[in-house]
Amino acid sequence: MIKDNILNIQNELPSGVQLVAVSKYHPVEAVFEAYEAGQRVFAESRPQELVSKVEAVRQWMESKGYTEPVEWHFIGHLQTNKLKMVLPYATLVQSVDSLHLLQEIDKWGAQNSKVIDVLLELHIAAEDSKQGFYEEEVLEIMLERNFKNVRIRGLMGMATNTDDEAVVESDFQRIDSFMAYLVDLVGDDHPDFNQLSIGMSGDWKIAVRNGATIVRIGSSIFAAPES
Ligand SMILES: *Cc1c(COP(=O)(O)O)cnc(C)c1O
Repeated sequence: MIKDNILNIQNELPSGVQLVAVSKYHPVEAVFEAYEAGQRVFAESRPQELVSKVEAVRQWMESKGYTEPVEWHFIGHLQTNKLKMVLPYATLVQSVDSLHLLQEIDKWGAQNSKVIDVLLELHIAAEDSKQGFYEEEVLEIMLERNFKNVRIRGLMGMATNTDDEAVVESDFQRIDSFMAYLVDLVGDDHPDFNQLSIGMSGDWKIAVRNGATIVRIGSSIFAAPES
């Protein structure tokens, strides 16, 4: 079942778009099943859940003799006091939503001799509740700030939660245009700034039409189909 879901999505994804399987709230056995279907990149949104899944998957892989590594992304709101739980494991923190967090990640990176890959989360939805930077703030960071131990790889965004596809499309168009504008403006100084993470279970096809390089899909992979 999980296997079929992954293969069906992979079949429809253009090459060059990375599928990140969002395993949050799903048991670690679901991750095992996805791994055996070939999935290698997963995302979690809570520090404690990330740590326990990383450990469980590590032990399971060892017991099975599997060696192809799993990558973990972090996609939830990250409090600075939880950085030390998340940063040893996450290869990409997709949900950086404040300058303070960026500075603290940079500090952790310096202390641990690591460069952390991150995306800046852009506020694109109509809802006030969604986290994220405004465009001016992202511009300020890209133009004025310089981090030695953080590599800003691109933008992440969540569309308005609505069935109206035109609204979702316009949210994604906006982040895609802003991304293109930034690449144009700062691309020479930031050659690795090239990732656009948009699209979830309900809207990833719209995201792919609008420049997604990463889609984050949970329920369409892991949840049982509604009967
Ligand atoms: C949960 C979550 C997803 C996956 O959502 P689905 O609708 O289950 O595919 C993607 N991105 C973020 C930031 C999430 O929190």
